[in-house]
Amino acid sequence: MLTEATAASDKIRCDACPVMCYIKPGAAGACDRYANHDGELVRVDPHIILERTVSHGGALVPFQAGGDWDGKIVHEPGMFVTAIGAGTTYPDYKPAPFIVSSEVDGVDMVTVVTEGIFSYCGVKVKIDTDRYLGPETATVRVDGEAVGHVTTSEYGSQMLSLGGVHHLTGGSKKEGRVTCDALMDLSNCKPVELAIDGGATVVVRAGHPPVVNGVAEERMRVGCGSATIGMFAKLWHDKVDDVVVVDDHITGVLSEHQAGKLLDIADTGIKMKGRRSTPGRYFQVAEPGTGWGGTKISDPLSVLGPFDPKVARPGMSLLMVSTTGEHAAYYELDAALRPIEKEMPADLRLSVERIQENCEPALCTVLFMAGAGGSLRAGVTDNPVRLTRSVKQALTRVTSGGAPVYVWPGGGITFMVDVTQLPAGAFGYVPTPALVAPIEFTLRLSDYAALGGHMGHVRTLASIRENAEIRQMPLAAPGQHP
Ligand code: SF4
Repeated sequence: MLTEATAASDKIRCDACPVMCYIKPGAAGACDRYANHDGELVRVDPHIILERTVSHGGALVPFQAGGDWDGKIVHEPGMFVTAIGAGTTYPDYKPAPFIVSSEVDGVDMVTVVTEGIFSYCGVKVKIDTDRYLGPETATVRVDGEAVGHVTTSEYGSQMLSLGGVHHLTGGSKKEGRVTCDALMDLSNCKPVELAIDGGATVVVRAGHPPVVNGVAEERMRVGCGSATIGMFAKLWHDKVDDVVVVDDHITGVLSEHQAGKLLDIADTGIKMKGRRSTPGRYFQVAEPGTGWGGTKISDPLSVLGPFDPKVARPGMSLLMVSTTGEHAAYYELDAALRPIEKEMPADLRLSVERIQENCEPALCTVLFMAGAGGSLRAGVTDNPVRLTRSVKQALTRVTSGGAPVYVWPGGGITFMVDVTQLPAGAFGYVPTPALVAPIEFTLRLSDYAALGGHMGHVRTLASIRENAEIRQMPLAAPGQHP
């Protein structure tokens, strides 16, 4: 990919971003994306065209298969021009680097590709763990610099919101650089160590298990403590007198829970610490932490008060287990109604294994999120708002490195993409600082003309193929790096 360059003695000037580097012969610019090759400004990485294949057979498949395609909304060919390695144009009114026409099922299509420079971008990180990573809104740091914060947790997962224009541009120069590096590494599926104020240290790598305080997480819980009681109550019926599923959020108690009542499980006189929400469901039985069920406890008996002597009797049995089954212990009450740990009976061990079996592997998920601003849209059309409308009307399909994106409703083109769905090394940076991410817009050629597209710059797929790298791209399930 060649772009315009201005000679200054033997240096040439790159005009692909606002930094406007002067580059010596044989050297690369500040972002390592452009170089001076014998006096020509070249994009260093190959431009990637994807040929999607099924992972086992290697046969070519269209992006959206289906013989009854009516051509009403965007259909893509099996050969797809990505923006990876395509380069960037600057300033904004210049047409995107590649505007490529192709024919799909007799319909003339066009794909407009550019490596967008995103100052407004970040990543949303989902970490499948019960363990307490830190309080909501706590600052997340890399190398001591603030790069984001802990946000509301989801079912079985802790969530982080990292990056964004505030950390990229609103703090110190170092904060911006560290944030940019962290975002790029996370987006390129590399491991990044994050330290959370007042919480844990966690190594995040998209598609891999999180490592919390040096320990790799194995399981994502099947449900909260109450849900676990509800799901597995039948397994415990007639095998144990009571069960407590310890959970930082909602601890469940079998004998008090509706699931136990319906199975006629008798009261045991158990007394829980914490705040009773509804029968058999307790909040705040312990402080959050990295011990049993996302609490900080290592001794499960610490969440119990003394048994009620009017109800409890010596010999009563009690299973205590965490929401993942990672921790479990079996007790029997002695003559003084104190729980004494005993070897767990085989059928109760099986119930713990059933909880473990129902836990999915714990993974980190990284979604890159960015807004395709008016300037990027101007590279597609001379009237940027028409591109936005076209996306909202589903006339234009947005992809990132060939991967499907979710476009937020409302104004602008704010999208999210699972970074494991992009080819390796798809993300770059410029030292403004900002992330560089591929973005493609695919639509009918006639619609492109109607929205004021740069029709004079449309070229054929065949004309760019010889200079591009064609990669076989196996179809992969979300969360699996192809
Ligand atoms: S940072 Fe990269 S894209 Fe920007 S001017 Fe320098 S070489 Fe070109």
